[in-house]
Amino acid sequence: MARDQRRDAFGREISYLRIAVTDKCNFRCVYCMPKDGVAPRAHGELLTVEEMAHFVALAAGEGIRRVRLTGGEPLVSNRLLPLMRAIRAIPEIEDISLTTNGALLPKLAPELKKAGLNRVNISLDTLDAAQFVQITRLGRLEQTLRGIDAALTWGFTPVKVNCVVVRRLGQDVFGLARLSVDRPIHLRFIEYMPIGDESARNLHAADAASGEDGGLRPDQWDASDTVPSSELRDRINAAARAASLGELEPLAETDAPSGAGPARYWRFPGAAGTVGFISAMSNHFCSACNRVRLTADGAIRPCLFSDTEYQLRDALRAGDDARVLETYRAAVAHKPEEHEVIEGTARAMSQIGG
Ligand code: SAM
Ligand code: SF4
Repeated sequence: MARDQRRDAFGREISYLRIAVTDKCNFRCVYCMPKDGVAPRAHGELLTVEEMAHFVALAAGEGIRRVRLTGGEPLVSNRLLPLMRAIRAIPEIEDISLTTNGALLPKLAPELKKAGLNRVNISLDTLDAAQFVQITRLGRLEQTLRGIDAALTWGFTPVKVNCVVVRRLGQDVFGLARLSVDRPIHLRFIEYMPIGDESARNLHAADAASGEDGGLRPDQWDASDTVPSSELRDRINAAARAASLGELEPLAETDAPSGAGPARYWRFPGAAGTVGFISAMSNHFCSACNRVRLTADGAIRPCLFSDTEYQLRDALRAGDDARVLETYRAAVAHKPEEHEVIEGTARAMSQIGG
């Protein structure tokens, strides 16, 4: 019997595509990028808007229904809006989402709305202004908070806020979780993962040696820096009890914000939003993984943690749809059943499309 193209070898329906629109960024988060950013790409190395959109149209024929635009920072790319409009015009695509650091959202929200964006995830690791600068190097807390306000004002629903927790940063996780009480914000705590290879880490180490990372040294990824979700929840609940807020209550899957993916959701009693936990390290969710990634330079990565990639750029550029589809199908067919011990990846998160 012919194989269902939409399913991988383990029966998972692959319906979700994440695209790294660019690997450039206006922030330099210490766990993601060296202070001087990533090396600029040679002209022609990156897919054009037309090539990306054409790929999405082909992938829609293979069962892709939802697309997330990420990076790097998608809002710094002048390709984002034309790409979004082109994807919106593909009838099979039901949902377009964006992952952003939020800094440029107040400026771009109206255009994004017009271009057809449905929802946004905004990254925010701390509510402490000084720590925000320490983590992002180039960002200011105010910008990202205004980005969250803009997302709510412009009705990108749901608004999710992603926080990567790193033990040595000692973030105030209860303070962040509390953002979900009064407004429909879905706070998600993400376990810190070893992404990027030794060379990327050496760059970070050079920053640290110059004292320019504030002594955080997150380049030295260490399992002890990953805070398991269960521990985080205990910490948040203890602080919530002390603040008479009541403990987090588990949410039924049907009540989780749309596009819930691998997060498990909870809610403070009577809260407008929710609190989710994404436990990539302590609790693999590979059996439910429905996604593949397209890098800015035209490679399909079937698994975030595996460096096996399927290069599509040449076939796309040659207008060889049959070869594009063949390559895409090979990527889906070889999506690993699960990732095992995660020890880093050849590309940094900003180059994979986190
Ligand atoms: N620039 C956008 C942003 O920050 O939201 C989109 C790209 S960024 C690479 C996507 C997400 O990956 C962010 O939420 C970021 O915090 C997360 N991330 C980066 N490096 C990570 C790591 N080592 N472990 C876990 N999450 C990471
Ligand atoms: Fe930029 Fe996002 Fe990486 Fe921070 S996490 S440096 S905002 S790509």
